[in-house]
Amino acid sequence: MKKYVAEPFKIKMVEPIRMTTREERVEKLKAANYNVFYLAADDVYVDLLTDSGTGAMSHEQWAGIMRGDEAYSGGKSYFKLLDAVKDIFGYKYAQPVHQGRAAEKVLFPTLLKKGQYCIANMHFDTTRAHVELSGGTPIDCVCEAAKNPAIYDDFKGNMDVEKLEKLINEYGKENVGAVLMTITNNSAGGQPVSVKNIKETAAVAKKYGITFVIDAARYAENAYFIKQREEGYQDKKIADIVKEVFSYADAFTMSAKKDAIVNMGGIVGIKDNAEMYENVKAMTIPYEGFITYGGLAGRDLEALAIGLYEGIDDDYLKYRIGQMEYLGSKLKEAGVPFQFPVGGHAMFLDAKALLPHIPYNEFPGQALALELYLEAGIRACDIGSYMMGNDPDGVQIESEFEFTRLAIPRRVYTQSHLDVVADAIIAIKERASEIKGYKIVWEPKVLRHFTAHLVPLDK
Ligand SMILES: *Cc1c(COP(=O)(O)O)cnc(C)c1O
Repeated sequence: MKKYVAEPFKIKMVEPIRMTTREERVEKLKAANYNVFYLAADDVYVDLLTDSGTGAMSHEQWAGIMRGDEAYSGGKSYFKLLDAVKDIFGYKYAQPVHQGRAAEKVLFPTLLKKGQYCIANMHFDTTRAHVELSGGTPIDCVCEAAKNPAIYDDFKGNMDVEKLEKLINEYGKENVGAVLMTITNNSAGGQPVSVKNIKETAAVAKKYGITFVIDAARYAENAYFIKQREEGYQDKKIADIVKEVFSYADAFTMSAKKDAIVNMGGIVGIKDNAEMYENVKAMTIPYEGFITYGGLAGRDLEALAIGLYEGIDDDYLKYRIGQMEYLGSKLKEAGVPFQFPVGGHAMFLDAKALLPHIPYNEFPGQALALELYLEAGIRACDIGSYMMGNDPDGVQIESEFEFTRLAIPRRVYTQSHLDVVADAIIAIKERASEIKGYKIVWEPKVLRHFTAHLVPLDK
């Protein structure tokens, strides 16, 4: 089994968590209509619903909150952020915005003309939405390895570069507005992308004169995987790997709520294209606010500038990914199936394999998530048929995968919390055949997983 990697920090301030009994949780879950989104956070012990905006800021970041400059225009914290982006990514221009989707909102309409394609390894769901809102068509072009949860591959997040070039030729290069690389590849389970793949993708984009954009939410975790797994990178600093990766792109959008470890924030980075920057500024002012704060308070800019550096600290990343690997190795040893190897920010339990007696239309991913809550007060979510919903004719879609996602917040939970999680999953595996499926009794037309009501089945 993989040994733990000890936390490279000590704890100065604690936030108590309320302990609940199983009887209480049975009642809470019923009152929540068997939907984890209706649970009050106060009734949850280990909250693994998302790693977005749920990280713990450092004492330096909290000190930065006090130092934040709240000037409307030209505040000190803004310039500190610009300096950080220049230093870390080597980009001349940076536009702060309030979160990742805001970065997409101010950038994509300037890149995509109506009817153009955006080709990505995989689009995150908000990115997909903003490509469509810009009048474009999002196309996913991920490598084949991403599609098999049980098979090991170093870089399951990679673009299928051959297919990318084929698609550009098929659509016509004038009809492709952008090529996009999501690092790590969130929708494929936080799987990394190699430098080699980024370089080859950039070369194809350049050959056809297409703008190459990185979705940079997990810029640091991706670099850590490169250091671990890609030949020639073992002795490089994370900071150098990040700089190399971003040197191949023209721009990036970033949700700073992930690797930059702030609770709210985002950035558009532009390497050197002054016209692109002018266009982004013109979009930012009406939608986000004046360019030197972009929808954030000065204190948020200050914490973000600090968080960008903390995210690429070698010891921090070793602990962060080490936590994921520790949990993964415990579960592997116990024979629990999951998307293998573990991603950077989340573990995707293979509920289809764990609960083979529950058919897709009785939602195995959801059943497992609910069982985790009952077992130990852990909140996870379904990434499967329950989330997929119905087709336009109202027929339940059968998802290719039935996952239960455990997303791990940054610097929030200790190793014992992860032991609680592993023990709960293993206990559930022992009595998996007794676990029942669920039925939806009420659902809205779109994005039903957030608000639907369910009841347990009796058979
Ligand atoms: C979270 C995320 C986004 C959107 O960011 P928000 O801050 O939630 O708006 C975009 N892309 C990826 C890959 C993400 O993980």
